[in-house]
Amino acid sequence: MKSKVLIVGGTGYLGKRLVKASLAQGHETYVLHREEIGVDIEKVQMLLSFKQQGAHLVIGSFNDHQSLVKVVKLVDVVICAISGVHIRSHQILLQLKLVDAIKEAGNVKRFLPSEFGTDPARMENAMEPGRVTFDDKMVVRRAIEEAGIPFTYISANCFAGYFLGGLCQPGFILPSREQVRLLGDGNQKAIYVDEDDIATYSIKTIDDPRTLNKTVYIRPAQNILSQREVVQIWEKLIGKELLKSSISEQEFLAIMKEQDYAEQVGLTHYYHVCYEGCLANFEIGDGAEEASKLYPEVKYTTVEEYMTRYL
Ligand code: NDP
Repeated sequence: MKSKVLIVGGTGYLGKRLVKASLAQGHETYVLHREEIGVDIEKVQMLLSFKQQGAHLVIGSFNDHQSLVKVVKLVDVVICAISGVHIRSHQILLQLKLVDAIKEAGNVKRFLPSEFGTDPARMENAMEPGRVTFDDKMVVRRAIEEAGIPFTYISANCFAGYFLGGLCQPGFILPSREQVRLLGDGNQKAIYVDEDDIATYSIKTIDDPRTLNKTVYIRPAQNILSQREVVQIWEKLIGKELLKSSISEQEFLAIMKEQDYAEQVGLTHYYHVCYEGCLANFEIGDGAEEASKLYPEVKYTTVEEYMTRYL
């Protein structure tokens, strides 16, 4: 019997893909309809389209504990994809309210909090101000573990839309056909994952005993590439070499300090990924799993396949 799933933040960039993947994998899927979205017509229409595809919409509010407890009691698994990108919105700590509701409800067999990026447990030495993302995600982890809630943490590495779209350059989400600025020598490896694949793998983990109380890294072997390699793939697709320049670590950090807070948070993340190689510079040890090995039946999107959409 497949678990019943509640998606919180189902109208979000990743959340809507989680709803789709949950339905596609045959789970009875509930999507939280927060009262606060009011007359946001786009969100309401999206929620209605989920309903047409077979999801159940359930009303609840982060300001009303009992409403959260009530919806959590309907399901076996809760997945939260609440916002966590400062240039859009950052609400990671709101999840503490969801943790309280899951604790009180007492029926949840698995909780996937809003992570889906760099593993925050590896980022204790991260730079200010971007470390707030990792620190907040760790606060949520501690609350989950103290409450004894069964969990899976998904470390999804780079969302392809942000990183491939911009040829790994912060501030860009469409690839230029003329030029590119390499971060340092452009040789640090990172890992790029199609957001729909992130959702597919995430849903695969929820009824899998191998992923209980573990971190699952999504590391599709063909998608572990440096910025230079991503640029080469794009150059092959467009049949043209880009004009290349480079930004040194010192220049990058100096420019970062002139930006506003939200921009600085994002740039810090690019720094750790592109200058330090924080995503790919470690082996996955005991107590963690890798998604493409656990689920070889998933035909993941390669970087080249992903990038054809920009042609
Ligand atoms: P979005 O910014 O798209 O937001 C997701 C949801 O957050 C919304 O649907 C909304 O739900 C909910 N939300 C926003 N504000 C509030 C609030 N005040 N109260 C309650 N709910 C709220 O999120 P993303 O998809 O961009 O991010 C999801 C996760 O993915 C985050 O953990 C983020 O850090 C991570 N991420 C990782 C990236 C990577 O490259 N690895 C890149 C981008 C994100 P509602 O409809 O109910 O309002």
